[in-house]
Amino acid sequence: MNRLKHPLPQGIGMTSQRTRARMVERLRKDGIKDESVLAAMGAVPRHLFVEEALASRAYDDDALPIGYSQTISQPYVVARMTEALRAGRELGKVLEIGTGCGYQAAVLAQLAAEVYSIERIAPLLAKARANLRGLRLNNLRLKHADGNLGLPEVAPFDSIILSAAARQLPQALLQQLSPGGRMILPFGTSEQVLRLVERTRSGYNETTLDAVRFVPMLMGVE
Ligand code: SAH
Repeated sequence: MNRLKHPLPQGIGMTSQRTRARMVERLRKDGIKDESVLAAMGAVPRHLFVEEALASRAYDDDALPIGYSQTISQPYVVARMTEALRAGRELGKVLEIGTGCGYQAAVLAQLAAEVYSIERIAPLLAKARANLRGLRLNNLRLKHADGNLGLPEVAPFDSIILSAAARQLPQALLQQLSPGGRMILPFGTSEQVLRLVERTRSGYNETTLDAVRFVPMLMGVE
C-alpha cells in the first residue's frame, strides 16, 4: 500500500516534480524498496526546506547546511532510516528527535498516523514551522525541548527516530517505546553506525546497519 496521508496543496511542488521523480529513481537504484517511502519522498518538496540559494541542489544526494551548524540529511539516509523504521508495517505514533528544517518530519507525516518532532534550537524550530506551513500536515506536532527526555506526556510511541547521533542509548526514549515498537538512531561519535532497537515483551533487540555521519545529539535547549 502506498497511499499518502497528505496530497500536496494544489500547485505546491509541481515544477519540481520531475526532479523529485529522478531522485526517487536514484533511491530505487541505490536499494530503497519500500514503495510507501519512495512515494513519500516523491511527494515532499525538499527544495522548500533549504535556503533559496541551495534550492537547485535540494534533490542531489547530499546533506546541506540549514543554519545553526546543522544539516538536512541526504535523501538516501532519510529514505534508508524511514524504510528500516517501517520494516513494511505501519509507523503508528512516531517521535522524531531533531526537527532541524522539518524535512524528515514531513516525510514521516506522509506515512504515519501521528508525528511528534522535538528540536532543541528555538530559531531552527521557527524555521521548520515556516517551511512546513504550506504543506498543511495536520498530523504533525512540533515541540521546543530536549529530545534526550523524549515526550513522556505523549508516550508510548510505536516508532522513534533520532536525527542526531547519540553516544549512548537515551534511557528515556527506550522507556517511551511501546512493546513491539522500533527505534532507529545514528550511534557513536567520530565513527557512527545506524542502530535499530526493537522492544520485545522481555527486553530490547539491537541490530547494526550502515555507517553514517550525523551532527551530535546535544543536551538542553537553546
Ligand atoms: N531531521 C532533520 C535533521 C536535522 S540535523 C532534517 O530533516 O532537517 C539534527 C537536529 O537535531 C539539529 O537541528 C539539532 O539541533 C537537533 N538536536 C540535537 N540534539 C538534540 C536534542 N537533545 N533534542 C532535540 N534536538 C536535538
